[in-house]
Amino acid sequence: MEFATFADRAAAIDAEPADLEIVAHVRDLLENANDDLEIVARFVQGRVFPAWRSRTLDIGPTTCYEAIARAAGTNVSATDVEDRLAEIGEIGEVAAGYDFGGQQGLGAFTEGGASDPLTVREVFETLSDLAAADGSGSHDTKVDLLFGLFNRCESAEARYLARLVLSEMRIGVGEGAVRDAISEAFDVPGERVERALQVSNDYGQVARVARDDGLEGLDAMDLEVGRPVQAMLAQAGTVTDALEEWDEAAVEWKYDGARIQLHYDPENGADVATTRVFSRNMEDVTDALPEVVEFAEATLTEPTILDGEVVAVDDDGAPLPFQEVLKRFRRKHDVAKAREDIEVRPVFFDCLHADGDDLLEEPLTTRHDRLEALLADDQTQDPETVDGLSLCWRTDDPERIESIDAEALEARHEGIMLKDPESTYSPGRRGKHWRKRKPDVETLDCLITGAEWGEGRRATFLGTFELSVRDGDTLETVGKVATGITDEKLDDLTDLLEPYIVAEDGQDVDLEPEIVLEVGYEEIQTSPTYSSGYALRFPRFQGVRHDKDPADADSLERLERLRA
Ligand code: AMP
Repeated sequence: MEFATFADRAAAIDAEPADLEIVAHVRDLLENANDDLEIVARFVQGRVFPAWRSRTLDIGPTTCYEAIARAAGTNVSATDVEDRLAEIGEIGEVAAGYDFGGQQGLGAFTEGGASDPLTVREVFETLSDLAAADGSGSHDTKVDLLFGLFNRCESAEARYLARLVLSEMRIGVGEGAVRDAISEAFDVPGERVERALQVSNDYGQVARVARDDGLEGLDAMDLEVGRPVQAMLAQAGTVTDALEEWDEAAVEWKYDGARIQLHYDPENGADVATTRVFSRNMEDVTDALPEVVEFAEATLTEPTILDGEVVAVDDDGAPLPFQEVLKRFRRKHDVAKAREDIEVRPVFFDCLHADGDDLLEEPLTTRHDRLEALLADDQTQDPETVDGLSLCWRTDDPERIESIDAEALEARHEGIMLKDPESTYSPGRRGKHWRKRKPDVETLDCLITGAEWGEGRRATFLGTFELSVRDGDTLETVGKVATGITDEKLDDLTDLLEPYIVAEDGQDVDLEPEIVLEVGYEEIQTSPTYSSGYALRFPRFQGVRHDKDPADADSLERLERLRA
C-alpha cells in the first residue's frame, strides 16, 4: 500500500467524529492492505511494532526536528521547526506545512532514476532499521534515515509520518475500533477477535490470522511463553461491596512494589533466555532484576507465565517502601552495585500458563492452586512456607478480612486486595473482580474512652480501643478499633494511655478521655450496640492526634453529617 493512501485515510479518520464511520474507514484500510495488512493494522493505531515487543523507536523529538529541517531545505534549521511547533502546537501540522517536494525530492529516485511513491512497507522497514541503530553515530544514522522518508513525502504523508514517528498519531482509533474493523472486514465475531488480541497483544498478527485462517485460526492463537500479556488491573472497592456481590472473597495482601510478569521456558535454546521479566507495561525489565531470574531458575521446571509483584526488602526480608524498588526497577547500569544496596524479591499471586495449559479462562482459585503447586517443594508443604507465594484466603467473614488486613499492615504491606474467587483473568481490564481496598475518604477524630488488655504475646499491651465522639458535654461511643495497629504502635499507645486508666475490670479498662485517635472506616451505620446509636463499619487506626485536645475531638453532629 502506498503511504499516501494510508495518509489520506488517516486524514479522513482524523476528521470523522462518529465511531461507526471510523470503524468503516479502518475496515476499508484493512481490506485493501494486502501484504501490508500487519503494518497497516498497527500504523492506524499509531504503533510501529506489536504492543508486546519491547522494541521501541526511541526517537527523541530533536532527531525528528533535524530530519524535518533537512528535508525542508537549506534555510530551515531544527530550531525553526521547534519554533513553529511552539506556535502551532502539533508536529503533524508543522511537518505538513513544509514543502518537501514530495515525489520530486532527492531521495525519491531509485537506482534507475525513476521516482517511486513511498509505501507503508518502506516506512516500516526504514523505521525498523532506525530502531535497530545503536551506539556511536546512531544519532546521525537515525536523522539520515528519517530525512530519507520525509524527503519523499507530500504534505499529508508528512503529517502522519511525523505523528507516527513521535508516537502522537491521535486520530481517534482506539483498540475497540480496530477490533470491530477486523471483525467486519474478515467476518469473524468481535469477541473472538478480542480474545486473540488479549493472548497475543498484536493487532497486526490478529488481523492477518483473521483474514487468512478465519475463526479457526483466531481460536487457535494462544499465549506464548516469552510474549507478555497485559496485566489484569484492580479497582478501588470496599469489603462491604465485595461481600455483597460474591459468596466469598479471596483476600490477599497488597504488596507495595512493582508489577512483574515472569515468563520461564526451560526449553528455550541456548540463544534465547530461559527467563524474561516484564513490567506492567510489557517492557522487558529482566536485566534489572537478577534476583527474579535466579528465583525462577531455582524454583520452576516447566514453561510458565506468572503474575506478581517485586518488592524491595531489608536485611531481615521485611518490605521497604515503594520508592526503594524504583531504584532497581528499570535500572540499566550498575545493576550488581544497586543490588548490593537494595535487594528485591518476587511474590506471585497468579498463574496464567503452566506446562502447555493456558489458564486465563480458569477461575482464580484454580489458577492459585496451580501457582502453589508450581512454587511448593512438594504437595505437602505448608503454603505459608512456600517461597515467593502470595497467600490467598477465602472467607465471607468481615472480621477475618479485618484481621488479614491488620496482619498485612503489621507486616508493612500496603493493605489487602479482594478478589472474586470465581473470576477469570481479564488482561488489561480494570474490572470489579479485583478490588484494592479503598482508602478511607474522610477520617474521624475520636476520643479513646476504654481499652482491653491483650492476650498471649500482647498481654502487656492495651488494645481494642473504645472510640467516642462528643455530644455537648457528654461522650457517646461509636465503635472499637483493634486493627491496623502494629505491636510497636500498641506499645507506644499503652505507654500513652496507662496514666489515664481510671478503672479496671479483668481485661477491660476505663480511660479518662484524653487521647484523640484518627480513625478511618468504610461506613457509618445505625447500631444499637453503641450509645451514639451509630457504629463505624471496619474502623481502622490511622494515628494519634497529638495536636488535638479532647475538646477538639469530633462531635456526634459531624458524624451524622458525614453519614448524610
Ligand atoms: P494500584 O497500583 O493502586 O492500582 O493497585 C493495583 C496494583 O497492586 C497491581 O497492579 C499490582 O501491581 C499491585 N498488587 C500488590 N499486591 C497484589 C495482589 N495480591 N494482587 C494483585 N495486585 C497486587
